[in-house]
Amino acid sequence: MSNKKTDIGLIGLAVMGENLALNMESKNWQVSVYNRTVPGVEEGVVDRFVNGRAKGKNIQGFTDIKDFVASIEAPRKIMMMVRAGSAVDELMEQLFPLLSPGDILIDGGNSNYEDTNRRVELTESKGFFFVGSGVSGGEEGALNGASIMPGGSAAAWPHVKPILQSIAAKASDGTPCCEWVGPAGSGHFVKMIHNGIEYGDMQLIGEAYWVMKKLLSLNNEEMSSIFANWNEGKLRSYLIEITANILKHKDKAGGYLVDKILDAAGQKGTGKWSVINAMELGMPLGLIATAVFERSLSAQKGLRETAAKAYQHGHLQAVYNKPELVKDIYSALYASKLVSYAQGFAVLKKASDTFGWNLNLPSIARMWRGGCIIRSAFLNDIAAAFEAVDKPEHLLLAPYFKEEMKKLLPGWKNLVAQSMREELPVPAFSSALNYFFSMVSDRLPANLVQAQRDYFGAHTFERVDNLRGVFFHENWTGHG
Ligand code: NAP
Repeated sequence: MSNKKTDIGLIGLAVMGENLALNMESKNWQVSVYNRTVPGVEEGVVDRFVNGRAKGKNIQGFTDIKDFVASIEAPRKIMMMVRAGSAVDELMEQLFPLLSPGDILIDGGNSNYEDTNRRVELTESKGFFFVGSGVSGGEEGALNGASIMPGGSAAAWPHVKPILQSIAAKASDGTPCCEWVGPAGSGHFVKMIHNGIEYGDMQLIGEAYWVMKKLLSLNNEEMSSIFANWNEGKLRSYLIEITANILKHKDKAGGYLVDKILDAAGQKGTGKWSVINAMELGMPLGLIATAVFERSLSAQKGLRETAAKAYQHGHLQAVYNKPELVKDIYSALYASKLVSYAQGFAVLKKASDTFGWNLNLPSIARMWRGGCIIRSAFLNDIAAAFEAVDKPEHLLLAPYFKEEMKKLLPGWKNLVAQSMREELPVPAFSSALNYFFSMVSDRLPANLVQAQRDYFGAHTFERVDNLRGVFFHENWTGHG
């Protein structure tokens, strides 16, 4: 083992850590790696890696955390890729006594942004720096280029920038999909919204697939071709591309694998966090909420089976003009996706204003163009819309997207209406459509809601014929 100090240390040799270490090494960084040893549970993880995938590479393995820290060049950069939650805090407590002033801890896991807020403060109070960074792209991205969203101690950025940008994916124009996001937990907040949008995109694609299958009775090869065709146009994206591949993937036992997969979706929590935080900020994020709830409902498989028998609902099985309906599905998918991104970016803007993060929305859109799960062509259009001289108040008010929405609306409406007549659930398509109609309505029935609140709870209301900010209470019952 050489005595030369390494450029960066990486803790946690599970899927992400191993691949990130190999990615760093391939960009000519010298890497120290460490994984805890839990006797009888996890032993030999470091040895397995160093003598396996990392054999012959510039990667030094350590099973002693003190030796590991000592092996890294100061100011030390130590990236933690461990299970989110208390594991990060435990690790930080072990690391603090071993660090020198100016050392930098990077948490690349899916940590809650409020934990990151707290960890930045704690770490800085000890004279060190903390970077909370979202990393998206799964195993493949970690190895070949991820979308990396770092935030926290700004003073750490010049030190970690060369390494993080070197291991990030590159967008089609060569820009690394890694830029400084902002202070405190903003990097993890942005990653959380990224994951929420991912939930939404997956639900929308699922609904498009379901309408094709249920109303048009298309076979898997036909559906795969349609998605592959869409992947050549404005919907071009990683998730559309993999959907085309998944649909035509054969099962070893015969038939198509997707048809044999149980329709009960799992979730790890970042979609739920996005919705909870949007609610905390008072912002509508209905499409992602719908996607999260649909995963929950899908997981209630037993209940659905019982209810399906109890209600015996079915489809009319009308005969459709296939090219026309496929066009409507496209419109519903594209328009709903626009609504979802508009909602997501509006939450980012609100969080930025509320927490004083000064988030750069075009930069975030550009960071998501490569490496991550939601990478897509139209993130270029989103970045351009937010960069315009006349910044739109909302993405759907940007001139380009306004024109797109107007073109998509007729097909989108048809598709939702037809699916409802057919008793076919399209919750995300319809949630997006309802949001859109509410958003473009200058009057909503909230006047009645306000009246009810005032009637039973004296919550007061404003009047349309008076100044905003002046509140009234009515004696609704006439009782003293
Ligand atoms: P993981 O299964 O989330 O975490 C396993 C790693 O954490 C192992 O190295 C484990 O060590 C370590 N660990 C657990 N508890 C620990 C503790 N108390 N102290 C020290 N180390 C501890 O691994 P992963 O899938 O590679 O993900 C790592 C992080 O990246 C997570 O936050 C995850 O959410 C995030 N992430 C994952 C993906 C993905 O596609 N997998 C994508 C983006 C982000 P042992 O081996 O000793 O158990």
